[in-house]
Amino acid sequence: MPTTVNAYAATAPDQPLVRTTIERRDVGPRDIRIDIKFAGICHSDIHTARGEWGQVPYPLVVGHEIAGIVAEVGSEVTRFAVGDRVGVGCMVNSCGECEQCRQGQEQYCLHGNTQTYAGKDRDGSITQGGYSQQVVVTEDFVLRIPDGIDLDVAAPLLCAGVTTYSPLRHWNAGPGTRVAVIGMGGLGHMAVKHAHALGAEVTVLSQSLKKQEDGLRLGADHYYATSDPDTFEQLRGSFDLIVNTVSAELDLTAYLSLLAVDGTLVNVGAPPQPLPVRVFSLIGARRSFAGSAIGSIAETQEMLDFCAEHGYGAEIEVISADQVNEAWERVLASDVRYRFVIDVATLD
Ligand code: NAP
Ligand code: ZN
Repeated sequence: MPTTVNAYAATAPDQPLVRTTIERRDVGPRDIRIDIKFAGICHSDIHTARGEWGQVPYPLVVGHEIAGIVAEVGSEVTRFAVGDRVGVGCMVNSCGECEQCRQGQEQYCLHGNTQTYAGKDRDGSITQGGYSQQVVVTEDFVLRIPDGIDLDVAAPLLCAGVTTYSPLRHWNAGPGTRVAVIGMGGLGHMAVKHAHALGAEVTVLSQSLKKQEDGLRLGADHYYATSDPDTFEQLRGSFDLIVNTVSAELDLTAYLSLLAVDGTLVNVGAPPQPLPVRVFSLIGARRSFAGSAIGSIAETQEMLDFCAEHGYGAEIEVISADQVNEAWERVLASDVRYRFVIDVATLD
């Protein structure tokens, strides 16, 4: 018998989320049932629920920054036990057989990984995400949250944390590298923390100086307002790596000019619109424009352990489930400091 749990769901692109119930499958031999304690709010939840990225299988429960406690394990589960502190991020399965999966890069599964919500699960049902009381996930896609990190500040690490850690590692951010982060939101503030902990020189490029004090406290060495045209003059050719976390259209050509020779601008922000690029801004200094999706399961665990070792999680504002619509509006207004996290106990 499936288990019925409380949740918040999107029902249409232009309607607020509503309280509802959904069913979670029985725990199979390799499954884990998780009592969700905290669920982070990612801008991707909003893009998805509002139909900005394509067709939506309504009603849909979003949320892919899940932190909780193991409530039940299947008979063949070996790595987790009831009571363990665990997390689930943006994917809950992948084919396991393609070249990418075999290399441990499930996020780039050639058959498409199974997304935590709005994905097609192995039984054909549509996956439902973390704005809910429980989730059932195969053990291979469950992460261990180290004891040193509280569950509420850990939740955003499962998407915002790994999505920024992965490109910083891939492009070797560290001592001697100059990293810029565009956008001080959920992903951006994690990029600042990670890049600082990795030893890079970190610059924030934000629309205004409103969050400057926070940016410097979180580890940035420099902070600039992109509304000031002088910023682009002053910083021309300054960075080895730029991580763009912005959820909206941006003048990429202007930002590419801030890269040094051989520098890379990697987009993790995922606006629905195409972004035009003036190719001369690449050619003129052998610059690269790249993209990056979340991170692998192994890399997510590495990032969680790295955060525990360095003593940080996300900067969060905990809300009750009935404040979720208000929180979404604040995310859309760039008024988030720096991740909203739903206290799932308020769904009881
Ligand atoms: P967020 O908290 O809303 O942060 C985005 C930040 O971008 C804002 O705080 C703001 O920072 C800046 N910004 C917003 N609108 C802007 C505009 N019109 N012009 C310039 N800057 C603007 O969102 P998030 O949760 O971090 O997600 C950011 C993006 O990453 C979303 O598109 C999301 O879907 C995507 N994402 C991608 C992946 C992946 O795997 N690649 C994973 C997760 C999320 P300032 O106020 O500092 O300017
Ligand atoms: Zn996300």
